[in-house]
This record gives sequence, C-alpha cells and structure tokens, in this order.
Amino acid sequence: MKKVLIVVDMINDFVTGKFGSERARNIVPNVCALVTKARKHGVPVIFLCDAHNATDRELGIWGEHAMKGSKGSEIIPELKPEKNDIVIEKQWYSAFVDTQLPEILTQMNVDTLIFTGVSTDICVQNNVASAYFSGYNTIVPRDCTASIDEESYEYSLKYMKNIFGTEISSSDRVF
Ligand SMILES: [Zn+2]
Repeated sequence: MKKVLIVVDMINDFVTGKFGSERARNIVPNVCALVTKARKHGVPVIFLCDAHNATDRELGIWGEHAMKGSKGSEIIPELKPEKNDIVIEKQWYSAFVDTQLPEILTQMNVDTLIFTGVSTDICVQNNVASAYFSGYNTIVPRDCTASIDEESYEYSLKYMKNIFGTEISSSDRVF
C-alpha cells in the first residue's frame, strides 16, 4: 500500500475566518502532528485549498469565500507547507476537477489516500467520492476532520464508510 496524506481546506476562511468554527480549530493540533509524522515517514503531503475566482459557481451557493490571492484562502499559519509538500488550488469542492491532482497522484503511483481537514461533509466527502471513482482506497482519521456541526460530521463519516468503503480510522493508526 502506498499512501499520501491530503489536507483539505485548512485555510484561514474555514478555520478562523468566515466559515471558521471551534470544531475546525480543535483538530489543528492533530492535523499538524499527522503532517509532521508523514514528512518523517516519507509520506507525501498534499494540501488542497479553495482559491476562488469571481465567476466560480460555488459562490452562488455560499457567497464570497476563500478568494484566490486573499488571506482567507491561505493555509493556516500552524500548517505552513514545507518545500516537498504539494499545494493545489481548487475551484470546486473536489480537487479532482480542473486541477493537476489526478495527474500528480498517477505520477506518485499511490493507491491509498488519507484525507484530513474540513468540512467533513462537504469538501472532504466530495474528494473521497472522487478518489473512489478514480479507483483509490480512502482513509479518514476521525480526529483530523471536522464539520460545523456534530450531526453532519457523524453522518458524513458513516456515509463515506458505507458508500465508498472508506476506512474511518484515527491519526495514530494511519501509518
Ligand atoms: Zn469554496
């Protein structure tokens, strides 16, 4: 099994900004620790970050957020990417749409994607769905992901497990 660690939308607007929440802030230390562990183990780290253009369809649903080049779309300071990490800007919930991600994953020759970040029920779940459609195994450590509310979080974890065969795990068990 060759794994990659993916950090979804741990950007200012979703942690401390417009759509920030206490639940998102609570997972920051866990995600930081897992990213550090991944680098130590030679597991590649990929950050997927909302970076919207004014014409993006999503803005019609959520209003302006994480605009490309803004502070809100920057990765939170605690998770500052290092030189071997990959950062991918995305315009849709799923980074498998209109980005280099599918190609990068193919080149890495990985088969298992570990997803962390926010929101569990929106961008994490939609990336897990895309990963499933592309033939990857998926793992979600529950202590490294969060939704705005508990109910959406629990439902989403159950949904990914039942529908995409996602392994719902914890950060001390993923690698
Ligand atoms: Zn967005």
